[in-house]
Amino acid sequence: MSILKVTRLGHPVLRKVTENIAAKELKTPAMQKFIDDMVETMKEYDGVGLAADQVFTSKQVAVLEVADNPRYPNKAKVPLTVLVNPKITPLSDEMEEDWEGCLSIPDLRGRVPRYKTIRVQALDRRGKKLDFVAANFHARVIQHEYDHLNGKVYLDRMRDFTTLTFLQEFARYWMKKYR
Ligand SMILES: [Zn+2]
Repeated sequence: MSILKVTRLGHPVLRKVTENIAAKELKTPAMQKFIDDMVETMKEYDGVGLAADQVFTSKQVAVLEVADNPRYPNKAKVPLTVLVNPKITPLSDEMEEDWEGCLSIPDLRGRVPRYKTIRVQALDRRGKKLDFVAANFHARVIQHEYDHLNGKVYLDRMRDFTTLTFLQEFARYWMKKYR
């Protein structure tokens, strides 16, 4: 497995809508290795999710996992999940604001409104159908990755930029206020 280079904001690939992955392509050793590399890369950089366009590949696949993560402590755990060609549907209009960061926008963090509960339909890495409900931080991570696959980043979803902060200032000025 290899650690892949992460695309930074400004690279045009991050603003493109990614391509659907056909069943045949998903099964190829090259695509399976790519998914392994995405998982490895996400873990290496302590990400809770990674979309393919964040590693220069404009395809509809994202990986996520919330374990003991130093970047996001005290969050409910989510097992390693691979989402291929995902679709999401909000299950209510209820939204919640919380902090997000992004490996493609290093050192920054801001408060982003997201749907609290969503239905997720996708394929797993073997092409098996997934259909589940995600809530709270789990739903947030999926919405963040889904946005990547559609050429959007979390900055596009912020209501305003008054909470946008570097990580060092986050620890100093914001953590207590929002704990
Ligand atoms: Zn991101």
